[in-house]
Amino acid sequence: MKVGICDALAKESFEVLRSRGIEVLDLSSIPKDELINHVAELDAIIVRSATKVRREMIDAAKNLKVIGRAGVGLDNIDVEYAKSKGIKVLNTPGATSISVAELTIGLILAVMRKIAYADREMRKGAWPKKKCKGIEMYGKTLGVIGIGRIGREVVKRARAFGMRVIYYDVFKLSDEQARELGVEFRELDSLLAESDVVSLHVPLLPETKHLINKERLEKMKDGAILINAARGGIVDEEALYDALKSGKLYGAALDVYEHEPLKESKLFELDNVVLTPHIGAQAKEGQARAGIEIAEKVADALLS
Ligand code: NAD
Repeated sequence: MKVGICDALAKESFEVLRSRGIEVLDLSSIPKDELINHVAELDAIIVRSATKVRREMIDAAKNLKVIGRAGVGLDNIDVEYAKSKGIKVLNTPGATSISVAELTIGLILAVMRKIAYADREMRKGAWPKKKCKGIEMYGKTLGVIGIGRIGREVVKRARAFGMRVIYYDVFKLSDEQARELGVEFRELDSLLAESDVVSLHVPLLPETKHLINKERLEKMKDGAILINAARGGIVDEEALYDALKSGKLYGAALDVYEHEPLKESKLFELDNVVLTPHIGAQAKEGQARAGIEIAEKVADALLS
């Protein structure tokens, strides 16, 4: 069996596959437009998000039985077409949940304590102590939209900081699950009106596209904070700019954008927004977990 690893993956994934007697080809340094010439003999390919596995590549890989994605989203894979050809598509939905949850807490703190702003100003020679009076997480209400794998990890960490947590999801937790996690359900509009911090952890779907738009931003508490480390497009960035500029919101942090990479944006003008380049899952441990898990799943599928 031959597996091609098309994007940079933790070294542990190579070890897992080789220990199961599988030949592993490191194709991560091959330019993406040339990859198609290297897949003819592969039984499986493993990717992260950079490699696009479209129809042409699937057709070129005549022996392909499995496509593995180290991570959650399958937007870079033509899943329907693969399935129509009997090719299994596997991913690692939970491997990086902790990495994303920790980044979310970091973003909340960065906005509340103006950490990125302070750093920027100091590098310009300023000492902006007076402008950096922030607010505490302790005692504030966090509204989590989407109480899935990442949402739940965020809840646990926010509660450790002394936050009260409410949530909205299309699927309600059982009373016991909610009690155990320490959260209460709210309808979306009530959650927006009650939360000091709103954090998004839903997928991007037609129903969640611009879920946070002008009207919903108006429903948020004055001086609240919005965090999006889920998917670009869930927040209307134009409307967010207005809410930040007018002072309706205290601040916001975004890890994901409608158009990535984000090279130009009115948001760059504002000091009360923290921007990171889609790094939610970019932690060493999360990547290692995803690499090992996908290697094991692909090996299981090939050898079963
Ligand atoms: P999950 O599937 O475990 O949880 C998503 C939750 O959203 C579910 O509980 C689901 O019921 C709920 N939901 C779905 N549609 C909804 C709607 N219309 N309204 C309210 N709730 C709805 O997913 P997860 O693993 O927790 O991931 C959450 C988000 O984080 C996804 O958008 C994922 O793509 C994103 N993510 C971002 C990064 C990053 O690098 N920033 C990394 C991994 C995942």
